[in-house]
Amino acid sequence: MKLSLIVPCYNECGNVAPFQDAVISAFEGCGYDYEIVYVNDGSKDTTMYQLRKLFEAQKCPVKVVNFSRNFGKESGIYAGLSNASGQYLSVIDADLQQDPALVRKMVEILDEQPEYDMVAAYQDRRNESRILSFFKKNFYSLINRLSTVKLKADASDFRTFRRNVADSILELGEYHRFSKGIFAWVGYETCYIPYVANPRLTGETKWNFRKLMNYAIDGIIGYSTAPLRFATYAGCLSAAAAFLYLIAVIIEKLAVGIDVPGYATVIVLILFLGGLQLLCIGIIGEYVGRTFEQSKGRPIYIAREILTYENKKQNP
Ligand code: UDP
Ligand code: MG
Repeated sequence: MKLSLIVPCYNECGNVAPFQDAVISAFEGCGYDYEIVYVNDGSKDTTMYQLRKLFEAQKCPVKVVNFSRNFGKESGIYAGLSNASGQYLSVIDADLQQDPALVRKMVEILDEQPEYDMVAAYQDRRNESRILSFFKKNFYSLINRLSTVKLKADASDFRTFRRNVADSILELGEYHRFSKGIFAWVGYETCYIPYVANPRLTGETKWNFRKLMNYAIDGIIGYSTAPLRFATYAGCLSAAAAFLYLIAVIIEKLAVGIDVPGYATVIVLILFLGGLQLLCIGIIGEYVGRTFEQSKGRPIYIAREILTYENKKQNP
């Protein structure tokens, strides 16, 4: 049996070596093979230099996929899965926020409980601001209401799964990748275990509020067409309201004979309907944009080089 640890890295120069040490000590005496597949996602610091050193040393089997630029963590996961050879595969961050020792526990669960194909860790306690937690909680309830796939709240990309799950994920060649949705969409029996994220070892998080917001929109647009239906409903509703108002105005004019008042009403209505139309065009635009991106059929990532120990052994 072999386990592949897939580690997307973007500006993690201070973390990749300690990460490897943590893996080696966590898996000591585990009784099965493992490899680390680092994906250097266009880092601007010395991450690639560090990875090259780890690759040359091969203290444990190390592969490195070096991207031609930054493609994002989701593409990194895809590239890692494509280049991993294990029967079990694990996705884990490079910053040691997620403890490699927990992966060993995940493997044990898969070994002991054949009914599960995937073990996913969810954050039991979040060490982040209340506002962020509030938005995240609402995001999960919103997307679960809108979409046919159901996401487990707070479940992360920190997962270990069998080869069949990885093959299914690789079959989804979508350009805009939202891994939480992809994991849910492929299905398979998943065991959820709690974990508490450690503080980042070095460096800083790549996520700010704006990026998280965009990520959330990507998730909703990618996994639901409900926003398009909103446009239809909003259109029907405002048309019905306009019709009722028209009848009311005519009746008022005929019965009471008052002049139709309403400079303010007209302005408000124009602004409201204009805003609504722009919103609906925006929603449609999100889908059209994604269709456009997908129709170009571009690859999910471009690797400048792939360092594998199999090649290394052949041409030392
Ligand atoms: N990451 C990546 N490409 C990116 C952004 C992040 O490969 O464009 C990697 C990063 O190096 C780390 C993991 O994704 O290993 C999670 O990123 P981060 O720690 O910044 O996210 P957080 O833990 O704060 O959610
Ligand atoms: Mg992190």
